Amino acid sequence: MKYFIANWKMYVGLEKSRALAMQYAGLVLPQDVTGVICPTTLSFTEVSRAVAGTNWQLGAQNVSWTPEGAYTGAVSAEFFREAGARYTLVGHSERRYIFGETDHDVRKKIMAALSVGLTPILCVGETADDLASGKRQYRLKKQLMLALEDLPNADRVFIAYEPVWAIHGIGSGIACLPADVADIHNWIKEEVKQYGISEPTIFYGGSVNAGNCAAYLTLPNVHGVVTGTASLHPAEVKSILSFLATC
Ligand code: PEP
Repeated sequence: MKYFIANWKMYVGLEKSRALAMQYAGLVLPQDVTGVICPTTLSFTEVSRAVAGTNWQLGAQNVSWTPEGAYTGAVSAEFFREAGARYTLVGHSERRYIFGETDHDVRKKIMAALSVGLTPILCVGETADDLASGKRQYRLKKQLMLALEDLPNADRVFIAYEPVWAIHGIGSGIACLPADVADIHNWIKEEVKQYGISEPTIFYGGSVNAGNCAAYLTLPNVHGVVTGTASLHPAEVKSILSFLATC
C-alpha cells in the first residue's frame, strides 16, 4: 500500500475547499493507493460530503489532546473521528515552529488520536539551522523518542519525514535530495525498532510535485508522500496518482 496525503493547510476556505474536493472526487485512486485529504476544520464536513462514495479518506491537520470541555478554539480527536476522519497529522512543522507546539504536546496528541482509533501521522524534521549545525539526526532522534518511547501501540503511528527547510512557506520550497531521503528513511526504520515498530510506514513531505515524485516513491522505505502546495492543483494530483498506479 502506498499513500498520498493532501495537506490543504489554511490555503482554501469553505467555497474553494468544496470545489477542490469535487475535483478530487473525479480523480480515481489507483488500487493499493490510500488517498487522504486534510482540509481545514471548517471545511471538513463539506469536503467529506463532496467525496462521499469515493475511496478518498479524510484526515485532520491537527487535533486537540483533550477529549472535550472548556477548551476554546480546540477540536478533539474524537470530534474529528465522529465527523469521519481516519487520520490526523500530528506535530506538523507549522504547528511546532509557528504555533509553538512542543514535543510534549505532540505526544499527548498522538495518544489522543490513538485512543479514538485515528491513525496519527507523526511529522518529524530538522530545521535549516539543525542541518547547518550537523544536528539533523539529533533533532529526529529527539522528536521520535519523545513521541514514541514507551507508547502503547506505537506500531499504529505513521511517520512523515518532513525537513522544515524543504517545505513551501515555512522553508525554502526546495525539495530534499532523494539520496538524503533514502538515507534518512532507512535510518528512521532502524531507529523506531526500539519503540516496537518493526515495519514502519514512512512518508516523505517537502515540495513534492508531479515532476519529482517518482524520485521519492521508488525508494524502498518511502511508503507515500505528503503534499501541500501540489495538493491544491488537481492536475498535479492526477499526475502523482498516475505515477503511484505504476508503483
Ligand atoms: C507540508 O507542509 O506538509 C508539505 C509537504 O508542504 P509543501 O508540499 O507545500 O512543501
